[in-house]
Amino acid sequence: MLLVNFLEFLLVEIAEGSRTRTTKTGNAWQCRFGCPTDETVDHIFLTCPYLQTERDQLRTICLAIDSQYCLPTLFTHPELKVPVERFLLEIINTPPT
Ligand SMILES: [Zn+2]
Repeated sequence: MLLVNFLEFLLVEIAEGSRTRTTKTGNAWQCRFGCPTDETVDHIFLTCPYLQTERDQLRTICLAIDSQYCLPTLFTHPELKVPVERFLLEIINTPPT
């Protein structure tokens, strides 16, 4: 039986990808969209300017379910499971700049 759920798998995929890919600067941990910072969960879900539109879609769902936009909500609320998975898949499928 598979013990890791899909969301956990996607987060690991991003982390693993960060370790093996190379950006123009040679910093494998750098945000794949070119921000001069590490690609962390906080950066992706809270601050990356290149993902603002996608985050706004998640914020809209948070408003609809009367929940605060924060990592615990994003990773635990059932209404957000599929949208967060799609958000992460989109990121994984974006090649580093
Ligand atoms: Zn970024």
